[in-house]
Amino acid sequence: MQDALNRPEETADEARVGPNAILQVAAALRAAGGEAEARRVFEAAGLLPLLAAPPTAMTRQSAAAALHLALRDALPEAAAERIQADAGRRTADYLLANRIPRPAQWLLKALPGRLAAPILLKSIRANAWTFAGSGRVTAAWDGRRARIEILDNPLATPGCPWHVAVFERLFRTLVDARTQVAHPACCARGALHCRFEIIPAGVPAGHAHAGDPGKESA
Ligand SMILES: [Zn+2]
Repeated sequence: MQDALNRPEETADEARVGPNAILQVAAALRAAGGEAEARRVFEAAGLLPLLAAPPTAMTRQSAAAALHLALRDALPEAAAERIQADAGRRTADYLLANRIPRPAQWLLKALPGRLAAPILLKSIRANAWTFAGSGRVTAAWDGRRARIEILDNPLATPGCPWHVAVFERLFRTLVDARTQVAHPACCARGALHCRFEIIPAGVPAGHAHAGDPGKESA
């Protein structure tokens, strides 16, 4: 018999995350490099059984964390970041297709961004365990930007491309297509919190994240 790593839904005493943290990494790896690439990364994470029998419900956060770390170790930095970002977009697409009710989506899309953003943020906060596991999450909207902080983010990898892409896709689809997400503090780079700043529309000069394209229209 294999060890507990292969029984992700049978352990009781560990925080869980949503299965998309694993499933969509597999999908992104297959899309980019085929089955062999997916096997290579899952094997490096000690999670090959999860590739053959994907988790169908909440899953152990340590398995998801091991997979994201193995991905970063196994691939060149830029390639790993692309896979994580693609997995994040796929995760958001799954949530849009299966988890966020259509009437709520219509409402959010119809509302001005300033009104839709705090509603979406509240929903994200209510489902924080799916992306933060044991990490303590706070979320705030100040009328112009949303801030999400995850204390001791168990799924942190440098720059957290998966989390950034999940938030970006959800906000761009439901709130404002111009949304920019910055990640100025990261547990994987020594910070206590992973902090995400989500800005739905144009930002006055001086506030834009250094990596953002120009947003001078506000
Ligand atoms: Zn981070």
